Amino acid sequence: MLRLNFVNRPKASRSPQRLSFLTSAADLNGCPKDRIPEIALVGRSNAGKSTLINGLAQARIAQVSSTPGKTRLLNFYTYPTYRLVDMPGYGFAKRSGVEQADWTAMVERYLAERENLVGLLLIMDIRRDWTEDEDTILRWLSPRELPSAVIATKADKLTRNDMLNRKRLIQKQSSNEAVLVTSSLNKTGYQEVEDFVFQSWIEDLG
Ligand code: GDP
Repeated sequence: MLRLNFVNRPKASRSPQRLSFLTSAADLNGCPKDRIPEIALVGRSNAGKSTLINGLAQARIAQVSSTPGKTRLLNFYTYPTYRLVDMPGYGFAKRSGVEQADWTAMVERYLAERENLVGLLLIMDIRRDWTEDEDTILRWLSPRELPSAVIATKADKLTRNDMLNRKRLIQKQSSNEAVLVTSSLNKTGYQEVEDFVFQSWIEDLG
């Protein structure tokens, strides 16, 4: 049984409390041992994952990377009723074979085995195409039939028309209707991400 029974958890409710940093873990054994549901955040290095977390928090709680791919911890950020779990970025060319293997072991294991996991947010730069890497990540999750959504970042780099065209293309490439668009420059999309996650994946849990 790879999913927790969330029935005894406090009833989920929207809270004015914002996202805040909770803890880090080097592996699955170091993850919090409780029944709080978790949403995984996975993305290529430089996709804008830390910026997304800061946008949701409306504060600088995640470090925006100057050295992409450097952090290799699972970072836990918490709302009152659920958590976001920031996975290390992938696809960093300078990473050695050993580091790549470590990354795969940690992320694959978290996605395949973490009982608290209820959904995955795949973070990508809206200007990039879907690749084999994204398919690989979803494959790790697929035996559990957990839902996923795509967050397409950096919408401000495109005109509105191009943004809409890219969104449609990513929906097609990912075979996922759930593509949400954000911009840190314009501070747009964050409320939509929060609403989507809460309403689709959290509200009805137990
Ligand atoms: P991470 O490696 O996925 O955590 O990516 P970061 O959050 O560190 O972002 C990588 C770079 O993209 C940084 O220079 C950010 O300032 C920039 N960035 C992230 N999101 C946006 C966005 O929505 N708009 C713009 N213009 N830049 C962004």
